[in-house]
Order: sequence, then C-alpha cells, then structure tokens
Amino acid sequence: MTFATRFAPSPTGPLHLGHAYSALVAHDMARAAKGRFHLRIDDLDRARARSEWEGAIKADLYWLGLDWPTPVWRQSERLPIYRDALQRLWDMGLLYPCGCTRADIRAAADAPQEGAGLYGPDGLIYPGTCRPATPHIGPLPDGALRLDMARACARIGTPLAFTETGSGPDDSTGRITPTDLPTHVGDVALARPGMGAAYHLAIVIDDADQEITHVVRGQDLFEATQIHVLLQKLLGLPTPIYHHHRLIRDEAGKRLAKRDDARALRLYHEMGKTPQDIRAMVGL
Ligand code: GLU
Repeated sequence: MTFATRFAPSPTGPLHLGHAYSALVAHDMARAAKGRFHLRIDDLDRARARSEWEGAIKADLYWLGLDWPTPVWRQSERLPIYRDALQRLWDMGLLYPCGCTRADIRAAADAPQEGAGLYGPDGLIYPGTCRPATPHIGPLPDGALRLDMARACARIGTPLAFTETGSGPDDSTGRITPTDLPTHVGDVALARPGMGAAYHLAIVIDDADQEITHVVRGQDLFEATQIHVLLQKLLGLPTPIYHHHRLIRDEAGKRLAKRDDARALRLYHEMGKTPQDIRAMVGL
C-alpha cells in the first residue's frame, strides 16, 4: 500500500502554529516516502463548522507550500457511510441510545463508583445511566448512541496493540488492555444528536477508506487511539501506524488552541514572516 498521511482539521477557527506543525510533519513524512498527503475536513459539528474557515485553512496550507489531491473529503458528505457502520455495531448488540445531557452526566459523575476515574480520553467517563442490561433490538434509532464498552471489549477478548513511531505523553507504547477500557474510557458516544456520527467513529472509517497508512497527530490524541484501535477491530478495518508528535506550546507552556488567535498563521503571514520562518518557529 502507498505510504499515506493526512491532516484533518475542523473548520471552526483559524489555523495556528500547532496546526502548521502537524500538517508540515504529515506532509514531509509523505513526501520523504514518495507517498500521499491528504487534507480532510472534519466538519461533523455543523453548529460550529463554517465554510469560510475551510477556505482560510486551505489558503494557509497553500501558503505554507503544501498541496493535496482533490476532491477534499468532508465528513458532512459521508454520513450514510458512518450510518452503515453504526448499523453493524447495532446489529452486534454493542450500541444503545442515550438521552443524557452533559449536565446529567456531570451530576451522575459527581458520585463516581469507587475506583472509577472521572475523566478519560473522551472527557467525563459516562456513568452508564442509559446502558441496558441486555442489548436493544429493533431498528437503529437516530440521536445519541453510545458504545457498550464492556460488551465491546468482551467481544474482542485479546489484548490490542498499535505501532507508535512518534511518542505518547510519556513515551508510552501502543499496548491496550481491553479489560481497562470500561473503567478508563467508558461508553463513548459514536453518534450525537444532529451530527449523525461522532468523531471517534468517523475518523476511523475515513482513515480506512482513504487507505491512510500513517496517522500523524498531536500527543493529546494518544489516549484516544485505544478507542480507534478497538473500533477498527470491531469493524474489521486495518490499524494504521500512529505517529503522535509533541505539542507546540506558548511561552507559559500551555498548548495552543483554536481560540489562540494571536498565534494564527494568517497573522504571521501578514506580519511578513515566510513559510521558512514558520518552520523554524515550530522547530522543523
Ligand atoms: N479534527 C480532529 C482534530 O482537529 C482530527 C484529529 C485526528 O487527527 O485524529 O483534533
């Protein structure tokens, strides 16, 4: 299979130095291997995604000297494909509808069971309020759907692993113990109301369909990778190689976020910096 990487931003704000670093690393790795580099648009969150941001993201990346095959995939155009995967997981008895609001989850999580942590890679660990004792039968419902993590892990059984060529937060390796997932990760949402699918499901399907061989992204997503590898096993998809890279931080050591407009690439461009300056600023 041809070496292939991708950069998959959400069009919800300007690209900053951290995005530039991630895109450049993915692009440079693909170029060095004479492979493909894809831009993909993670616009599942229709309430926050804007086509203006998509245009601005492309302009910034062109300015940096990157290019990619077209058409560019948009998650909002792939909802039927995600729905098919949800149907398969539903038919395996691994999904259940969830009507909890964030406030419900927070309130229930304030009284956690002994030994259970509060936060996992997907935020607050779901306390299991809507989890049925036996799988639902009948047609796949709309709205929020959660993965019954204990049931999913029991189906997989064996330990899971992935190859990491970058580094996790503390140089961790990619070993996953399925029995830890119900307490450390919990029942993650795979479909959200109004979005069709949720991030973890969509990204795994996109990476497989686009034949991505190397997923390059920040260390902040290292812990989420165990969810992705589990979904790949359940759906019979290949597990790519993962390359989690260091995060670009501000002077105070805080990692950059979309709201850090002061670090927006556009501003550096307007200030007269060159793409070479940007590479130097992020240590490339
Ligand atoms: N849209 C996701 C983000 O910007 C992509 C994450 C990934 O690369 O898996 O965080």
